[in-house]
Amino acid sequence: MNGLAGVQDRYEVIVVGARAAGAATAMLLARRGMRVLAVDRGGYGTDTLSTHALMRAGVLQLVRWGLLERLEAEGTPRVQRTVFHYEDEVLDIPIKPRHGVPALFAPRRTVLDRILVDAAAEAGAEVRHRVRLEDLVGGDDGRVEGVHLQDEQGATRIVHSDLVIGADGLRSTVAALVGGSITRQARHAAATFYGYWSGLEVDGYHWYWGRGAGAGAIPTNDGLVLLFAGVGARRFAAEVRGNVPGAYHRLLAEVAPELAEQMAAAHLVGSLHGFAGHPGYLRRPWGPGWALVGDAAYFKDPITAHGISDALRDAELLADAVARGTEEALRQYESYRDALSTGLLEVTDRIAAFEWNHAELKELHHALSDEMKNEVTALLGLYEGALEHH
Ligand SMILES: Cc1cc2nc3c(=O)[nH]c(=O)nc-3n(C[C@H](O)[C@H](O)[C@H](O)COP(=O)(O)OP(=O)(O)OC[C@H]3O[C@@H](n4cnc5c(N)ncnc54)[C@H](O)[C@@H]3O)c2cc1C
Repeated sequence: MNGLAGVQDRYEVIVVGARAAGAATAMLLARRGMRVLAVDRGGYGTDTLSTHALMRAGVLQLVRWGLLERLEAEGTPRVQRTVFHYEDEVLDIPIKPRHGVPALFAPRRTVLDRILVDAAAEAGAEVRHRVRLEDLVGGDDGRVEGVHLQDEQGATRIVHSDLVIGADGLRSTVAALVGGSITRQARHAAATFYGYWSGLEVDGYHWYWGRGAGAGAIPTNDGLVLLFAGVGARRFAAEVRGNVPGAYHRLLAEVAPELAEQMAAAHLVGSLHGFAGHPGYLRRPWGPGWALVGDAAYFKDPITAHGISDALRDAELLADAVARGTEEALRQYESYRDALSTGLLEVTDRIAAFEWNHAELKELHHALSDEMKNEVTALLGLYEGALEHH
């Protein structure tokens, strides 16, 4: 639904931002019987600037939440292999069905975010699109007590809550208003360019690595394949700025010549999308009356394609902490999140530097694979009630 009509004066939790992190968190809290309002300034079912390869941890969450069938019913193809193309070697890794995860998936955000929003609403959360957070309501003691909202018709409303969750992405307004401090700062910011192609035959995720550049192919809905190219900050400034389409084609031809060859007979559907890059960070994700989740709390360079999977993971950790309802639970949310994220953030930052040789890159990919396995093990433990032990 759009707009503020019918919104109540008070909820237990208000979630700002209703995509991967926000819609999932709202769903999990509503499933626990809490009164939840989720708002997003964007439109229901719209796209956002993001490629969308999910890793095993992300798919595991969708399986556990009972949402994978819906994703498959929307025609999201199964990804059953990941192929790493290095200069001197090709590594073809089958994705074995494990822990109820039959394959990997790369759903369009128009599909994934909509499925999460629908699941939140079905669980009883009120979800309102085209509604923007303007400001927070603060108590005399500095505690956040609610939000100032505005819809597209210009209607405004103050709504109170016990907790305000900022799931409002990379440039989070909630984080800025509460002063959520950065606790770990990454250094590198790579640029990513991508477009959707019809008429390509691509089986599995393909990641290509050249000197100072990368590229990849990600099969997605509607028979389309997302082709991306990425470069470090130095090459971006020297070669890309001002001519993104030219650089996109040049980089794909340089790093992934076999894809570039196929592209000649394929069709670009829609326009190219570009992200100039942003260094990663971890932020303190909670304080009196507020919490942060998803990119608002933890961002890393898209080069390791892991932000959505981590957003779905942290939605679970935060919902668990909120349900327990103590400050200690929120403190554990932060420490558990940090334990699972610090390695991922660091290895991602080193890959995003684009300063490795291929032997070093392979080591980084091994380290990344270990971090991803830890994450899956931790999530499986979480479902068995092991969170308390951390
Ligand atoms: C180029 C690029 C490629 C990427 N590729 C991948 C990939 O392949 N795999 C992967 O897992 N991750 C990838 N990521 C990362 C992924 O996009 C993010 O980690 C993910 O979107 C985080 O979800 P989120 O819900 O935290 O934030 P977002 O998806 O950014 O959602 C935030 C929402 O908050 C809303 N909002 C913001 N401010 C307000 C406000 N004041 N009031 C109301 N609403 C507000 C916005 O409208 C938005 O809908 C990529 C990112 C980029 C930039």
